[in-house]
Amino acid sequence: MSKFGVSADHAEGHERPKPLPEITPFAQEFWEGTKRGELRIQRCKGCGHSQWIPRPNCEECSSRELTSELSSLSGVVYSFTIIRQVVMNSSAFEAELPFALAAIELSSGVRLIAQVVDVEPEKVSIGMKVEASFEHLSDKVAVPKFHPIV
Ligand SMILES: [Zn+2]
Repeated sequence: MSKFGVSADHAEGHERPKPLPEITPFAQEFWEGTKRGELRIQRCKGCGHSQWIPRPNCEECSSRELTSELSSLSGVVYSFTIIRQVVMNSSAFEAELPFALAAIELSSGVRLIAQVVDVEPEKVSIGMKVEASFEHLSDKVAVPKFHPIV
């Protein structure tokens, strides 16, 4: 139990701890990478397909022969929404409202879902150039977030 009276599955150091992702074996390289400030994306040895989120096999050809490739930290906003209210057990995110949640297209073409920070949500736009930085929620988890670049 942390000083906040919640299980170790929640981030420490926040007044309302955020729930942390379950780190599955096939997502381990991704989460090890984010702790070092890297984005590691799965690529299929069989067909060359790149994918996020991490999975046990290729979503195109089902091959289990996947490698973990270092990705560029930069990309563009492919699509986004503005989160204005929280539901259910997500009150830990209340202090950050409103915020932009976006599909970010990396230079490899892979898209991942992440928060866009350091900009007012209303100023986020499709095609906006962004770059990843990492919020360390615990000693095990750092989540990628994206901020605008010129
Ligand atoms: Zn494949």
